[in-house]
Amino acid sequence: MGKPTGFLDYERELNPSTSPKERIKNFNEFHKMISHEERKLQGARCMNCGVPFCQSGMMLNGMATGCPLHNLIPEWNDEIFKGNWEHALARLRKTNDFPEFTGRVCPALCEAACTCGMNDTPVTVKENELALIENGFENGLVVPRIPEVRSDKQIAVIGSGPSGLAVADRLNQRGHNVTVYEKHDRIGGLLMYGIPNMKLEKSIVDRRINLMKEEGIKFVTNADIGNNVSAEEILEAYDAVVLCCGAGNPRDLALEGRSTINGIYFAVDFLTMNTKSLLDSNFKDGKYVNAKGKNVVIVGGGDTGNDCTGTVIRHGCKSVTQIEMMPKLPDKRSESNPWPQWPRVCKTDYGQEEAIAVFGHDPRVYETTVKELIADDKGNLKAVKTVKLKQEKNPETGAMAMKEIPGSEQILDADILIIAAGFLGSQKYVADAFGVELNPRTNVKTAAGSYKTNVDKVFTAGDMHRGQSLVVWGIAEGREAAKEIDSYLMGYTNMV
Ligand SMILES: Cc1cc2nc3c(=O)[nH]c(=O)nc-3n(C[C@H](O)[C@H](O)[C@H](O)COP(=O)(O)OP(=O)(O)OC[C@H]3O[C@@H](n4cnc5c(N)ncnc54)[C@H](O)[C@@H]3O)c2cc1C
Ligand code: SF4
Repeated sequence: MGKPTGFLDYERELNPSTSPKERIKNFNEFHKMISHEERKLQGARCMNCGVPFCQSGMMLNGMATGCPLHNLIPEWNDEIFKGNWEHALARLRKTNDFPEFTGRVCPALCEAACTCGMNDTPVTVKENELALIENGFENGLVVPRIPEVRSDKQIAVIGSGPSGLAVADRLNQRGHNVTVYEKHDRIGGLLMYGIPNMKLEKSIVDRRINLMKEEGIKFVTNADIGNNVSAEEILEAYDAVVLCCGAGNPRDLALEGRSTINGIYFAVDFLTMNTKSLLDSNFKDGKYVNAKGKNVVIVGGGDTGNDCTGTVIRHGCKSVTQIEMMPKLPDKRSESNPWPQWPRVCKTDYGQEEAIAVFGHDPRVYETTVKELIADDKGNLKAVKTVKLKQEKNPETGAMAMKEIPGSEQILDADILIIAAGFLGSQKYVADAFGVELNPRTNVKTAAGSYKTNVDKVFTAGDMHRGQSLVVWGIAEGREAAKEIDSYLMGYTNMV
């Protein structure tokens, strides 16, 4: 522990961000790093408490708390305080393959469980992590690590999101021969096409992929396994196959006209088109949905909806409304949700901050749903009919459900409707192509704590296995699956 009284002496200081009205002028990241000297004080705030919940990654009251990667947080905070940046980075890289991704987009489950946060502000764990890895890249500490010895084992990873990349990285470092197949034209899964550029610049993803290529991993793009490449071909050519295809089956709206009215998009399709057009041509190709001057309604008040809000604000939309079925969460932890549980509180994310700056109000409306789609005579969406909801207990089952409030209907102008209402598991054609069983939640089925499917030599990890989740969980699953695959291939494993 560097400074016993650091948490009393220094205030939490976050990386400064560009003002909402300024940053919406482009799709660039908008945070700057504080200096090394300032960062040192942030490291000093870690009190090295006897039981560091920050690195626990455990389930409490049905929610994860603490880092799922069990990052050695107190150790590297201490090293930051002492100025041992190189050693701190080495300790960080022991448990996290891609801190440059989590340091940008992780919701920081660690900080929610930080002991300093019990009655004051938590340590800036996530930004300390980002500072370590970015300092490492800048100063030549992150260089290709090419395995000296190779096994004769061939592994195919299907899907190049964080889980697939983590499996590939770990098994490649172990000396196996890894090929990653991706159906899109770019590598990265939702890191590339999903999470918008202003949250994670795509040059950051490419930087890591280039490093992994130099380390010996092969990447094949535009390869849709189970479609333009057969599963049989893959099964024949490889000693182990890992399905990391994500949970890309979006929840739809069952409304009349859904499939015929123009102007309705799934959030990930909308965001993918946007990023692809940005990267391909800086929007000159026009192959994206431009919300400039349009009224936009987004179904879903969560993180994906927020990314859509940030995107349409950057286009220059006329209005944006995020419709959320559930009631607004409290602004502070309730008594039934104490530290170190994940705080179930209302957070105002970057897109919503920007909407408030531009339009003067929060774009979210709660306890509301879309009841009807209204089109003009050319079949283009022009409005939606919304209705208010209230929570009611089913007298027979005792379960709570949202019920419509009669007479509360309203008409909302809408030229574009974006559906950001969550996901219903993986896309079935991949599971069918390999013959792997699904569980009732349509995720690929394995025994608890295992990543092995019912089909010999076929494994799974990430959202395809655990359902819609987080980047940090994708990396954690990928790392655990790699150990099991190594054991399957070699008869033992010395991977930790
Ligand atoms: C809009 C959006 C924003 C998000 N923001 C955050 C955030 O800020 N922070 C956070 O922690 N999490 C965020 N998430 C969640 C996070 O991105 C996912 O949990 C994570 O990416 C899952 O990783 P994965 O590797 O399991 O799958 P994915 O990232 O979904 O990658 C799966 C890959 O498999 C490919 N694939 C699918 N089928 C095939 C096939 N048949 N052949 C070849 N390739 C195939 C897909 O094209 C895709 O590239 C966000 C999710 C969305 C949708
Ligand atoms: S990966 Fe996420 S939860 Fe883990 S230390 Fe980093 S920011 Fe915290």
